[in-house]
Amino acid sequence: MEHRVIPVHLRESYNVLIGGGLLAKSGSLIRVALGDCRLAVVTDCNVAGLYLDGVLTSLREAGYDTCSFVFPAGEQSKRMDTLSNLLEFFAEERLTRTDCVLALGGGVTGDLAGFAAGCYLRGIRYVQLPTTLLAAVDSSIGGKTAIDLPQGKNLAGLFHQPSLVLCDIDCFHTLPAEELSNGAAEAIKTGILEGEPLFSLLETGNVREHIEPIVTQCVRYKANIVGQDETETGPRKLLNLGHTVGHAIEKCSGFSIPHGYAVAIGLAIIARAAESLGAVDEPIAARIESALVRNGLPITTKFSPEALANAALSDKKRTGGQITLVVPRAIGACYFLELPTAQLENFFRAGMEAGK
Ligand code: NAD
Ligand code: ZN
Repeated sequence: MEHRVIPVHLRESYNVLIGGGLLAKSGSLIRVALGDCRLAVVTDCNVAGLYLDGVLTSLREAGYDTCSFVFPAGEQSKRMDTLSNLLEFFAEERLTRTDCVLALGGGVTGDLAGFAAGCYLRGIRYVQLPTTLLAAVDSSIGGKTAIDLPQGKNLAGLFHQPSLVLCDIDCFHTLPAEELSNGAAEAIKTGILEGEPLFSLLETGNVREHIEPIVTQCVRYKANIVGQDETETGPRKLLNLGHTVGHAIEKCSGFSIPHGYAVAIGLAIIARAAESLGAVDEPIAARIESALVRNGLPITTKFSPEALANAALSDKKRTGGQITLVVPRAIGACYFLELPTAQLENFFRAGMEAGK
């Protein structure tokens, strides 16, 4: 089966390949893009059980010398001690400047392995092999890497672009429904930014059936934005749609609510707030809510507007007395709203009361 190729145009450009059966062909695809080197595969224990042997076989068939590092699955592994074990593993394996790391897994693996690749020997290459929908449509593209600190999520990290992204859509067959929903939230966010035909595909609630066009359109959108704004000083900030509330909900829940679920609630609140304040060109809130619900996502929260505003204002995205929100005015049209921080709680309240 042929695959799609979506380029990300940066100083050092790279391709995102999307299609079925890509993991089984990973060795030859990596050889074409990167040439000869040693490959260190980084993956979590769940993904290792499903896909590591297949990937290692393909790499060896393509003539690669490999080693692999497996860590316990889950966000708790995205922290300093795993990073430090990983860096020591690279050193013990004597990886050199010309070698390469493969991040095989979801966003946790990509963020951790990308960060380790970005600082080992002041930066070696890495390849993303996303196996969750969230990683495929969002975290594997754009070069943001990070680990969590006890003080908060993603507090230590760097921009380090991958050299190649291989997105094997067959991986999503083994993904539990909640993980598919988690990724669908980021896809719906992209659909609200991009508009049609992506949003309509997501409105069906049947992501599995439309997986290839959904992933392709999300990747194309993100690749284009990242190509315009590599380090998030301008248009890339649009990708924060739903995230001010989303991050606040994650924080208030002690990070027990997964990122995508929190973003889903954030998308619903911001859409209802925009609509109830008359700041939209067309009714959007009901459509956005129904797309979220059909994909198994929540649209309300038990936390108060006050608690969410307090959590949001302690977040790093705050600048001075203003906070920048991304607000939808129609499906396919969002804009930046500079809001005085004192008005944030009322803005959230408008979106939460309209949801009752
Ligand atoms: P994850 O990597 O923990 O994966 C979720 C779960 O699915 C894990 O238990 C994993 O083992 C399992 N899994 C992965 N692939 C599977 C498959 N094909 N079949 C069955 N199970 C599979 O989490 P995630 O949701 O992919 O990513 C969340 C992380 O991504 C967060 O840490 C978040 O901060 C980060 N993130 C980063 C960016 C970025 O731009 N760098 C963007 C968004 C999110
Ligand atoms: Zn996100």
